Amino acid sequence: NKAELALLKDRPTVSKDGHRVELAANIGSVKDLEKVLDNGAEAIGLFRTEFLYMGRSSLPTEEEQYQTYKHVLEKMNGKPVVIRTIDIGGDKELPYLGLPKESNPFLGERALRFALRREDVFRPQLRALLRASAHGNLKIMFPMVAVREEWLAAKRLLDEEREKLKAEGAKVADRIETGIMIEIPAAAIAADTFAKDVDFFSIGTNDLIQYTMAADRMNETVSYLYQPCHPSILRLVQMVIQAAERAGKWVGMCGEMAGDETAIPLLLGLGLHEFSMSAGSVLPARRQIASLSREEWKAHAEQALRMSGHAEVKEFVQQQRRSVT
Ligand code: PEP
Ligand code: MG
Repeated sequence: NKAELALLKDRPTVSKDGHRVELAANIGSVKDLEKVLDNGAEAIGLFRTEFLYMGRSSLPTEEEQYQTYKHVLEKMNGKPVVIRTIDIGGDKELPYLGLPKESNPFLGERALRFALRREDVFRPQLRALLRASAHGNLKIMFPMVAVREEWLAAKRLLDEEREKLKAEGAKVADRIETGIMIEIPAAAIAADTFAKDVDFFSIGTNDLIQYTMAADRMNETVSYLYQPCHPSILRLVQMVIQAAERAGKWVGMCGEMAGDETAIPLLLGLGLHEFSMSAGSVLPARRQIASLSREEWKAHAEQALRMSGHAEVKEFVQQQRRSVT
C-alpha cells in the first residue's frame, strides 16, 4: 500500500476521465519542506508566515525573512510557492507587540487588518518577498480580505515597495502573481468583484466555515458546526470557483477541507483547480482523484448543493464512492 502510493510521487494529478488538477502542500516553516518534497506535492499552496514572527521576542528583520523565503523557493526548484503575508491575531498572538486585548479577537484586528495599520511590520515583509521573488516561482497571497479596499491597499503597498527596490537596483521578478484568500463570507459572496484584478483565489475553509457558521473554530462545544460539506459552504465554494472561472483566474483551497476525502470528490466536481493540504495527505488524495470521474462528480456536486444538510451530503458521497468501487 505504501509502496503503491510512492509510485504516484512524481506523477501529475489526473482524474479517471483525464481532468488535471494540482495538489499542493501547506507549510508553516522550512522544517516542513522535507515532507513536502517526499510526498510529491506539485507546489506549496500556503506558507503560513506568521510562524516566523512567533516564539521569539522581537520582529524578524527583512533580511531574515528574505533568507527564509529564498530558501523555500530554491528548495522548491521552480515549482509554485504561495506565500501568505502575516496572519496574526485571532488565536495567534505576538506578545512583544503589546497589542490591546480584544473581546472578539477572531472578529478583530487580524491578519491584513493588522498589516495595513502597521506598515512598519508589513512593508519589510513585502520587501523580503519581492527580493525573494528573483529566486523561484513566488506567488503572494493576502489573508482575511473582506472588502475590495483592503485588497487594493495591500496591492498598492506591494507596488510601492517594488518601485523602491527597483530604484535601489535590487532584483525582483518581472511578474509576481498576487491573490487573496477567500475566508470571509463577504468576499466569497462578492468574489466576482475581486476576480477581475486578482491573479488567483485560495479558499480558506477553516475560517470560511467558522465565519459562515458563526462558530469559533477553537471552541470544542460548537465544533459540531464545523461542517465542510454543508450545502451553505458548498454553495459559497461554487460561487468563488464560478467567479474565478468567468474571469479566467485559477482558484485553490488551502483549508483542511481540501484534504478531506469526503470533500475532495465534490471539490473536483465543482471545478477547483488547486488543492493545498498537509503534505501527508497529498499521495492519498492523488490516488483518490485518479479513481474519480470529473464529469460524474460535476453532476453529483450539483445534487449535493440542493441537499438539506451535512449528514445527507456525507452519506450521499459515501454511497456514490461505494457504488463505483
Ligand atoms: C483557513 O482559514 O482555512 C486557512 C487556510 O488559514 P488558517 O488556518 O491559517 O487561518
Ligand atoms: Mg484563515
